[in-house]
Amino acid sequence: MKKNNEEPGDIVCPVGETSCTWLDEVQRLRNQIEVLSELVSTDALTGLFNFRHFKTVLQAEMDRSKRSGIPTSLVLVDIDHFKAVNDNYGHEVGNQALVYIAEILRSEVRTTDIVCRYGGEEFAMIFPETHLNLAVKVADRIREMISNFQIPYEGGEFAVTASMGASVYIKTSILDLEGFVDSVDKFLYEAKESGRNCICHVDYANLRTLSEVSTDERSMLFGKE
Ligand code: GH3
Ligand code: MG
Ligand code: MG
Repeated sequence: MKKNNEEPGDIVCPVGETSCTWLDEVQRLRNQIEVLSELVSTDALTGLFNFRHFKTVLQAEMDRSKRSGIPTSLVLVDIDHFKAVNDNYGHEVGNQALVYIAEILRSEVRTTDIVCRYGGEEFAMIFPETHLNLAVKVADRIREMISNFQIPYEGGEFAVTASMGASVYIKTSILDLEGFVDSVDKFLYEAKESGRNCICHVDYANLRTLSEVSTDERSMLFGKE
């Protein structure tokens, strides 16, 4: 017997009872699992995905790129001189600044893109099925927005800047997850070394695998300029 107020996903009694304490308990536990699953993958301060989820999603997207040949782009973001924010305004204001920055990141990407708090004052943006040049354009626009955003606090407002590194995972990449993330981290380091508040990314022409790919595949990887 189907209850009128049955929702998709509801557990239905196999013998058609309309009321059963055991089924109610199973439903309650199911709901609890849903809440806990979300907590396991979420960063408590910013509400973004956490590092654990980052690794799971990135691995899945890298696997997908291997199968489909459609690239996955990755951008790492590190707030510049964030220690000074804490020193000047206090740790709590620093926390609030991270929440504001997280909101800028989240609101400026597509719903299919994955924004994570990578750790401390570092964030990661995974762009599935996305050419590097598009990911870099989006990330650079976000970088500019961060630098223009005035973070309010009790005594007034202040701004921060962010440095970014970006690269792309392609069908012919031989890196594992750690290697890919490390390669992006190197570009982030380069951005810091270049004076901060900028984005550095893999040089298309220097990609080792580039000589092995056709013109079609090349435009697939990087898009049309
Ligand atoms: P750089 O431009 O080289 O990245 O300088 P930086 O000061 O941002 O880098 P550094 O690694 O020296 O310091 C990171 C700072 O971020 C220090 C740490 O206290 C602060 N931080 C990390 N996580 C949090 C957090 O959750 N809340 C607050 N308020 N501060 C945090
Ligand atoms: Mg850092
Ligand atoms: Mg920093």
